Amino acid sequence: FDDRDGFIWMNGQLTDWRDSKVHVLTHGLHYGSCVFEGERVYNGAIFKRDEHHQRLHDSARLLGFELPYSVEEINQAASQVLEANGIENGYVRPVAWRGSEMMGVSAQHNSINVAIAAWQWPAYFSPEARLEGIRMQFSNWKRPAPETAPVKSKAAGLYMICTLSKHTAEAAGYNDALMLDYRGRIAEATGANIFLVQNGELHTPDPDCFLDGITRRTVIGLAHDLGYKVHERAIMPEELAQTDEVFLTGTAVEVTPVREIGQYSFTVGETTRTLLKAFDELVQRPDQRTAHASVSAAE
Ligand code: PMP
Repeated sequence: FDDRDGFIWMNGQLTDWRDSKVHVLTHGLHYGSCVFEGERVYNGAIFKRDEHHQRLHDSARLLGFELPYSVEEINQAASQVLEANGIENGYVRPVAWRGSEMMGVSAQHNSINVAIAAWQWPAYFSPEARLEGIRMQFSNWKRPAPETAPVKSKAAGLYMICTLSKHTAEAAGYNDALMLDYRGRIAEATGANIFLVQNGELHTPDPDCFLDGITRRTVIGLAHDLGYKVHERAIMPEELAQTDEVFLTGTAVEVTPVREIGQYSFTVGETTRTLLKAFDELVQRPDQRTAHASVSAAE
């Protein structure tokens, strides 16, 4: 992914894509002092841009560092990247990390670096998968307890659990993995939150040890508007036997139906299709950035 034309914003300026490099002794690489965001661009505008850039700040603070750029400066930088690369529909990846000045666990005085890349990007799962529903496997890896790791941070280090889970699922022919939490409750997919539909009502796990996704909150807002009851609560995996529909939400997956999780299977039903359509319509709206302010808790 590094050998291509384009520009990446790094610490205040646009640099050639191929020259956007870090030193091998970077603290973020050795000790996981790195946070990032994933954003989608629809018709030239980043969906929920301010929420994402606020979360980047919050994630860094949870790892004990402050970004040297304000949310507004990061907004501006992201616009510059989109313009320089001519992206109307795609993906934006801001990342922030501790630099290479000191090598060791302690890096109090290391520089804080920020970069923003963007690229054209189609759907995360194939269009067929999105319509038919994806197939998931249970992961053996668990989301850790809040006192074990900064679980509310979109921290690069926490993604090793996701990559391990996703690789195992893919090797067994599945699209993705469902991770339970340290208590054995349903938590989330490797890059998305999960919703269950039972008797026409929505159920989604309390986000007390994983990301309360921006898409998750958006879909809860849409569901309320459409008159669905939404229950945020503890959900054990056995409940999947009494579940009619399942779908994932996330910046990358948008709203994606799930057809199978381990021994359980589901239909891609009316509720999922209604919310998928409502979400797809919302992101295309010109006023999308300010829409659903009621669920934009991070603003
Ligand atoms: N959980 C994980 C592990 C994720 O990587 C993501 C994607 N950022 C989500 C949930 C969903 O978050 P969002 O809707 O903000 O993209």
